[in-house]
Amino acid sequence: MRRVSKSVSVVVPFLLSVAGGVTAAPVVGPSFIGFDSDGTSTQRALEQRFDAELKADDLREWMRQLAAEPNQVGSPHDKANAEFVLEKFKEWGWDARIETFSVLYPTLKSHALELVEPTQFSASLTEPPIAGDASSSRADGGLAPYNVFGADGDVTAELVYVNYGMPDDYKELARHGVDVKGKIVITRYGKGWRGLKPKLAYEHGAIGCLIYSDPQDDGYSAGDVYPKGGYRPADGVQRGSVADMTLYPGDPLTPGVGATANAKRLAIADAKTVLKIPVMPISYADATPLLAALGSEVVPRTWRGSLPITYHFGPGPAKVHLRIESEWTRKTIYDVIATMRGAEVPDEWIVRGNHRDGWVFGAWDPLSGHVAMLAEAKAIGALVKQGWKPARTLVYASWDGEEPGLLGSTEWAETHADELKRKAVLYLNSDTNSRGILSAEGSHSLQHLINQVAADVRDPETGVNVRQRLRAKVEVDAQAEGASPEAKRIAKIAESGGDLPIGGLGSGSDYSAFLQHLGIASINIGYQGEDEQAGVYHSNYDTFEHYERFGDPGFVYGVTLSQTAGRIVLRAADAGVLPLRFGDFADTVSEYTDEVHKLAETERAKSETVDRLLDADAFKLAADPTQKSMPPPRDDIVPYIEFAALDNALARLKRSAKAYDDASAGDWKKLSAAQRKDLNALLQGMEQSLLDARGLPNRPWYRHFIYAPGMNTGYGVKTLPGVREAIEERRWDEANRYVVLTARVLDVYSARIDQARQVLSKQ
Ligand SMILES: [Zn+2]
Repeated sequence: MRRVSKSVSVVVPFLLSVAGGVTAAPVVGPSFIGFDSDGTSTQRALEQRFDAELKADDLREWMRQLAAEPNQVGSPHDKANAEFVLEKFKEWGWDARIETFSVLYPTLKSHALELVEPTQFSASLTEPPIAGDASSSRADGGLAPYNVFGADGDVTAELVYVNYGMPDDYKELARHGVDVKGKIVITRYGKGWRGLKPKLAYEHGAIGCLIYSDPQDDGYSAGDVYPKGGYRPADGVQRGSVADMTLYPGDPLTPGVGATANAKRLAIADAKTVLKIPVMPISYADATPLLAALGSEVVPRTWRGSLPITYHFGPGPAKVHLRIESEWTRKTIYDVIATMRGAEVPDEWIVRGNHRDGWVFGAWDPLSGHVAMLAEAKAIGALVKQGWKPARTLVYASWDGEEPGLLGSTEWAETHADELKRKAVLYLNSDTNSRGILSAEGSHSLQHLINQVAADVRDPETGVNVRQRLRAKVEVDAQAEGASPEAKRIAKIAESGGDLPIGGLGSGSDYSAFLQHLGIASINIGYQGEDEQAGVYHSNYDTFEHYERFGDPGFVYGVTLSQTAGRIVLRAADAGVLPLRFGDFADTVSEYTDEVHKLAETERAKSETVDRLLDADAFKLAADPTQKSMPPPRDDIVPYIEFAALDNALARLKRSAKAYDDASAGDWKKLSAAQRKDLNALLQGMEQSLLDARGLPNRPWYRHFIYAPGMNTGYGVKTLPGVREAIEERRWDEANRYVVLTARVLDVYSARIDQARQVLSKQ
């Protein structure tokens, strides 16, 4: 369900990280110590044989087959696809099985939405077939537009427009004297995770929530609509989960444990991730009459979308009736797990996954990434038939139930938590894929590995390697008017010729349980940015026909994803010493630490300014006296946060990281087998030392103290989340406490790096 909002902003595929002053890294650097005993030439020869097995026609045919019918959780085609994938893995020589889980998955029984005052209108809530797209007429058995894990309800109330429905929007509403208590809100998609919109609406007293796709975001303002172009047609609806995944992903009834047959389950009423008010996604065709019927004050400029109407706040005179009734039963989900046993260290696992379930046909999301993963598995099977064997064990996973809330990956990871913590070396995820530029996010100890791989993969459109393309993109985008300081900082790093920084991981796809709950170093990759797929995201029109025209004609970027992910898997599998580097991580944490220092200062300055303006009555004097407008509330004084523990931990981390990276530049072949074993054991569990078993404030499932999805932003990553969110939410005692706790995990991490360095220095 991953989605980067590409139509509204310039895509900076590699986001955030690494401090300045990074020097150029040699192309053959320390992480090549990982390669097999014959060095890089054997590795490259293996990768060429791997590439020779990848066929774009395979990807096309698998997508055609998997996307032939609706394949959401509980559908017959979802199960048939699991069986198809199982047979393929077996045919290619993998040891494969289906693992099932029983998860809460409500399905829509009936729904209605009407404008009852001042005029009458019944919303269609349907996505009719589109000329030239045969799949779109086969939606029988597909899921009507629905937000899974919203509540059932039958409510009638005045309507209020709340823009993106994010925290700042409610502050703005308050300044205009608009209260949503007892009302139904209408909000537009974008800016934050969809599940936060109804959650915040509920917290502000609303009794129902509509979410519509404004054409400004992914409709006719972004480009020609389907079928002329790829963008969202008037009737297109974005489905999606509204489970409160900021608390925990996975089955709402089994937090922290696998949803196996006999698992202890919560009652539905006690499941905190199920929302309390009805929520419905609608098209802009259905939203227009509702928004047009709103009165009272005209909204601020930044709140206006691209519909041919004047946008008003309401409430009323528009009054709507919203009814949703669902069947609240458990359904079976089918994960396909395929294993290729390692010849030398079978108890170290490289885990690779992509989900298989869609909302309707799911050609782009998720099958574009899934078919690339299948191609890797086929090619690896062929290499094994030719006599090669991976040193470590490969585990390939076709996840089910990702769309409703990362169900398949989370339940599997929770079920096998102990074994994964002992054995998993890294988790490599992909999801949607299309024409464009490489996007990579993940654990920063893997940043150098990703850069090395990217330098060895050819971009199919320009012929240069995908790292060169990315480097050019980063540098050119930083020249654009309005480019962010962050984009400029990254461009400087690119210019220096150093490794391109990768972004941190928030949430939105299947890596969450591995990274944020279990502490397994993770990567998420894909190509994006030159497609028109955003316009059919989670709709009936994300079809094979659409993807072949607007996603990746010729499936060449599918093959490029296979080459990229395949190299990461092969190199990690055969590395003599696991390819981790810690200087990149230390530089990144340094950047994050600067940010939280600055955040506290900015908040302090902002509060002081607001207080000064309030003292001078400035808000009142600046406002139009004939309009309703209230000054913002007075903030409390921002105290000085005690950052010393974090600053000291960072200094130690930098020293430890540098010492290890320097020591690892030696020849790993001089290590004895026993030393290598000790070293790899330390490296395997390294990321886990960044967890604290107590978890983050109010959400103990999330234990990683460096990366987490934002509590009030959703998918987007919050780095040093315990500290950063406490400052953002103005919980000062908590900020001080989490400075200490975060410093503690960094100290444990540094100590483990020191141990690894000691093993290396014994050579
Ligand atoms: Zn997806």
